[in-house]
Amino acid sequence: MRTTEKLPELFGSMVFNEETMKERLSGASYSAWKKCVTDGTSLDLSIANEIAEAMKQWAVEKGATHYTHWFQPMTGVTAEKHDSFITPVGGGKIMMEFSGKELVRGEPDASSFPSGGLRATFEARGYTAWDPTSFAFIKEGSLCIPTIFCSYSGEALDKKTPLLRSMDEVSRQALRILRLFGDTETKRVTASVGPEQEYFLIDKELYSQREDLRMTGRTLFGAKPPRGQELEDHYFGAIKPRVAAYMKDLDEELWKLGVLSKTKHNEVAPSQHEIAPIYTDANTACDQNQLTMEIMKKVAERHGLVCLLHEKPFAGVNGSGKHDNWSLGTDTGKNLFKPGKTPSQNAQFLLFLAAFIKGVDDYQDFLRATVAFAGNDHRLGAQEAPPAVISVFLGDELGAVVESIINGTPYQDAGKRTLKIGIDAMPSIPQDNTDRNRTSPMAFTGNKFEFRMLGSSQSVSGPNITLNTIMAEELKQFADELEHSSNFNLDLQHLIKRTFTEHQRIIFNGNGYDDAWIEEAKRRGLSNLKSTADALPAYVVPKNMDLFIKHGIYTKEEILARYEIHIEKYTTVINIEAGTMIDMIRHQILPAVSAFSTDLCERADSKAACGVPNKYETATAAQVGQLTDSLMDACDKMEADLAARPADAKEAMDYSYRTIVPDMNTAREIADKLETITAKEYWPFPVYSELLFSE
Ligand code: ADP
Ligand code: MG
Repeated sequence: MRTTEKLPELFGSMVFNEETMKERLSGASYSAWKKCVTDGTSLDLSIANEIAEAMKQWAVEKGATHYTHWFQPMTGVTAEKHDSFITPVGGGKIMMEFSGKELVRGEPDASSFPSGGLRATFEARGYTAWDPTSFAFIKEGSLCIPTIFCSYSGEALDKKTPLLRSMDEVSRQALRILRLFGDTETKRVTASVGPEQEYFLIDKELYSQREDLRMTGRTLFGAKPPRGQELEDHYFGAIKPRVAAYMKDLDEELWKLGVLSKTKHNEVAPSQHEIAPIYTDANTACDQNQLTMEIMKKVAERHGLVCLLHEKPFAGVNGSGKHDNWSLGTDTGKNLFKPGKTPSQNAQFLLFLAAFIKGVDDYQDFLRATVAFAGNDHRLGAQEAPPAVISVFLGDELGAVVESIINGTPYQDAGKRTLKIGIDAMPSIPQDNTDRNRTSPMAFTGNKFEFRMLGSSQSVSGPNITLNTIMAEELKQFADELEHSSNFNLDLQHLIKRTFTEHQRIIFNGNGYDDAWIEEAKRRGLSNLKSTADALPAYVVPKNMDLFIKHGIYTKEEILARYEIHIEKYTTVINIEAGTMIDMIRHQILPAVSAFSTDLCERADSKAACGVPNKYETATAAQVGQLTDSLMDACDKMEADLAARPADAKEAMDYSYRTIVPDMNTAREIADKLETITAKEYWPFPVYSELLFSE
């Protein structure tokens, strides 16, 4: 049977989803679980026991032998600790057991995960607790239970807890606004996310010959190949058989796990591809994106390929990002960022739009910080990804609506009707407002925003926590103001106009890759945090800390811990990269080029002895010799600079950025020059033209 025929059966077959729960739980337990998810009520132990038993039975039927709490520590990847279901029952026999207590709470003693000082070692134990809003699933014989991860005293040690908190908070504040518009039905507003994921596939044989790829996920050396992405024949081009087989396999694995993987196409660079699921609630989307990244790597191995999720595996070739499509929707099925049909619906839409625009403007520095890490520094602002300056793209039509609101001028819609902006006569806003501006970091795309600055390897949690929280803050301010209004329509109109006017500097519909925009952005007073080292301090700017503390998303300690972890991570990455470079230079490149130039000299001598011209040998040997010595000097300097790194974490980050990164660039430039003049058989590892066209 073909996969398509059995797809409905395959889909979610490894997920303990709502349907399975309905089938396998008593009515009372199912309702209790449902209530727990929708109203946030807690579960009795007896019910947890019943759910655990049903989960176990289901998992064992599917061949599972172990269970694990599956969580997302601040490393940005997922973690699991497997326990088997078996319990001895005497006489050398076993029973398969799993209790409600084991479902609900775990103690993984995961004391080596980064905690940013949140856990003193004497209370190093971390606790995991079941997240009943995300379905359990089976992966490689283990029942995986999505959990939060926190310290003994309740501080979040993970990326899920604050995401759940932010989802609750944005719902709470959005409901206040909906009530003002007479909506009494909606009980919950949910942040939805659809992440588009870019990646590279390269041949595993070639990969394993490159220490840099194995150690750091990217090439630290490599001259530009004679052919890169110039021909643009790869983009949306025909998919090669091995890649097609990989994608098919990947889709099937993801479908089994209930991931709505939907699109696949080739990306701009050779060997680069994209996968996107259909959007879902932010919590599930974040879990599933983590799972997707893991499965992508695993499935690649089966096909003799390696999946690279690094933001910039190859210099001079497009890097990989992740587009975070984000919106807010009601449990009654309405998208709050979808322009409506009536003037009043459009007034509500414009209010949510105004809140978003104000939020992005007020917290542009923090949004930038949420995508700041070493890998992403190679992309942002490099003329292929959005600039490091944050702005919002609205498109021509919506831009014109906003402009006429600011100027108090009539607006002419697509049907050439002229409409005065007022609550009773809101213009009809085009519904198919699809944006094809790929240069904007934050684009309105008809019914959602697309945040395009995320790196391909990154957890989507941080950026979505921030989008939810800034939205909650602005909606709160609006609700505080409007709830006391005696003339709602008039005050609403003023509020919308005032907000657009005060925050219009963040709206930009032009080409974000243009240098002129960077100048213009400076004039507008927008922040331009070029690097991770420049961006991370936004974590501890008082207005940003206040935002998260006030809404109960992070405590002060939690935010400081995150700041510290990100800083240390940056320094660690640069340290590993520089160390790998030194290793490759000393053990591979220098010996190789030395042999090459020596051989050239010998050949030049023997040619000269016969009176044969030997310009190539002599000139090349001299050039190689010179570059070899410069490379050695560059390597010595890098090593000395690494040894002189300051002890303080923040200073070490700045130093890594301002001293070590330039050292690495210098060494690379020399090595890449050497690569272009060294005979192929001497060069110690596969080069770009081999790697990029290997799949
Ligand atoms: P494009 O490549 O044009 O950006 P894609 O169709 O590849 O578009 O990806 C769009 C992503 O946005 C998909 O994951 C899609 O499910 C998601 N998406 C669509 N509508 C919404 C929405 N209302 N909220 C969040 N994500 C959405
Ligand atoms: Mg996109």
